[in-house]
Amino acid sequence: MPELPEVETVRRGLEPWLAQETLVTVTARRPDLRFPFPTRFAERLTGRTVTRLDRRAKYLLLHLDDHQVLLSHLGMSGKYRVTPRPDPDLQPPVPAIPPQPHDHIILTTRRASIAYHDPRRFGFMDLIHSEALASHPLLAALGPEPLGNHFHAGHLLTRAQRSRSPLKALLLDQKVVAGLGNIYVAESLFHARLHPDRPAHTLTIEEAERLTAAIRTVLTAALAAGGSSLRDYQGPSGEFGCFQHTFAVYDRAGQPCTVCGTAIQRIVQSGRATCFCAVCQR
Ligand SMILES: [Zn+2]
Repeated sequence: MPELPEVETVRRGLEPWLAQETLVTVTARRPDLRFPFPTRFAERLTGRTVTRLDRRAKYLLLHLDDHQVLLSHLGMSGKYRVTPRPDPDLQPPVPAIPPQPHDHIILTTRRASIAYHDPRRFGFMDLIHSEALASHPLLAALGPEPLGNHFHAGHLLTRAQRSRSPLKALLLDQKVVAGLGNIYVAESLFHARLHPDRPAHTLTIEEAERLTAAIRTVLTAALAAGGSSLRDYQGPSGEFGCFQHTFAVYDRAGQPCTVCGTAIQRIVQSGRATCFCAVCQR
């Protein structure tokens, strides 16, 4: 599932193709993804200009010139594919770019055709008025962005002290910190030398500082690598992220720890696998 670095990579990839561009045509090729599209979805988007592309947690937010915001979640397998278009004023007109299977939404601008492609259809989209964005049920309860100023050791420590969960569950809780999933939680805990099963309330201030710093370091490195390409993830121009080649623990069960050489262990917590080094992480 795409996490913060993958969604931010998608945002950065789409920005040069969508910011300040008008949506000349919008085609919905089915009525729903995980949820039905909003009423008159394509019609409400057609002719609008995208003023800005934001991201909050794992949500892409396309701000439009009529104060609507298109919210897009990539689910498990959603991706955007940009195909540059030849000049639409060419005569004779250039035929439209044919959609591929699982292309569900097609946006065209003067310069490009942008397809939202999602074979498993766990993704979803919504259209929200910008004034209602902060109170939207999906966004209202989200915790701070891990790369923003509101995420710091004091915040993490307060939330940890109130928690009855293990550290891994604390970091996966989007109300505590927004945008992390299985990959970046496992990597951050390794870099902070903290055991995923440690009861969160035993965290010390020194460890909270180590953990916030580790989260920032891991996410920054992942962003620089264009995210992690696992299974379905690909950037808008078809490029693959390469952070998966530097995983220290995620998906490395049985392989030697990069620090101490001990075999990486795998445990299952709340139905999800976690990899860690039993020597380095306490
Ligand atoms: Zn180790």
